[in-house]
Amino acid sequence: MLIGGIEAGGTKFVCAVGDESGNIFDKVTFPTEDPAKTLDAAKQFFNKHDIQALGVGSFGPVDLNKKSKTFGSILNTPKLKWKQFHLLDQLKQDYNIPVTLDTDVNAAALGEYKYGAARKAASVLYITVGTGIGAGFVKDGQTYIGKSHPEMGHIFIQQRKDDNFEGNCPYHGTCLEGLASGPAIEKRFGKKGDLLTADHVAWDMVADYLAQAIINYLLIISPEKVIIGGGVMKQEQLYPLIRKKVRDLSNTYMQLENLDKMIVAPKLNDEQGIKGAIALALLG
Ligand code: ADP
Ligand code: ZN
Repeated sequence: MLIGGIEAGGTKFVCAVGDESGNIFDKVTFPTEDPAKTLDAAKQFFNKHDIQALGVGSFGPVDLNKKSKTFGSILNTPKLKWKQFHLLDQLKQDYNIPVTLDTDVNAAALGEYKYGAARKAASVLYITVGTGIGAGFVKDGQTYIGKSHPEMGHIFIQQRKDDNFEGNCPYHGTCLEGLASGPAIEKRFGKKGDLLTADHVAWDMVADYLAQAIINYLLIISPEKVIIGGGVMKQEQLYPLIRKKVRDLSNTYMQLENLDKMIVAPKLNDEQGIKGAIALALLG
């Protein structure tokens, strides 16, 4: 069976055709423009293939409350043409096949769970640290959605005394995303993260904030694996720093035997989102 997947990002759309084993047979990437133009480009691609189902991992926030009148639509985004856009209805209309919609981070979590770094785990938390910060959770093959989807990037954490940055989250200032996302790093230090040296204080700071978030996630949801991806995590020195700080914050309270194996990088080379989107279609 051929399955379609869409990784619907705020800056780019990835569309692919694959199967239930995680193979990808064809793939295309194009910039995210207004909904009509973007979904038209997707249609041109999928029209070349005989897909039976479609899975979509979308940027958000997106209404995933099945009882809501706006279920399947994009909510409060700065991308104004997408605000209130009914993505799920439009896709169902375009393709007339079953469509499964979830968040981009739940899709990435599912991709790593089925085919990547969490293949042998019963549960996984996938965190992305990029333009924004978000996390998705998969347990026993199902993605977690509450009333709607969680927003784990906007949690409140303690700011370091040597950090007087006002934060750049438009809603909360110094929430996790406001302190540790790529744009937060750029605004605080006046340079994009990839231009800062590996021993710059930025990374110890970012590791501190991510470790605080992760200890909270561990305490709340107890995932077997924690995968951290996204552009900022290309700074590989962050992983050992984060593991050490998580251990220190736990202060022997939690059983954290092998953090090298528990807190890891993604394994699917930036295809976790699209492979996960295809896998979403199989959840039905
Ligand atoms: P998005 O979150 O938009 O899907 P990414 O995950 O690629 O995209 O994240 C983009 C962010 O990551 C940008 O803010 C960028 O500055 C930052 N970034 C990209 N590469 C690096 C790097 N090597 N080191 C630090 N930050 C980086
Ligand atoms: Zn916030």
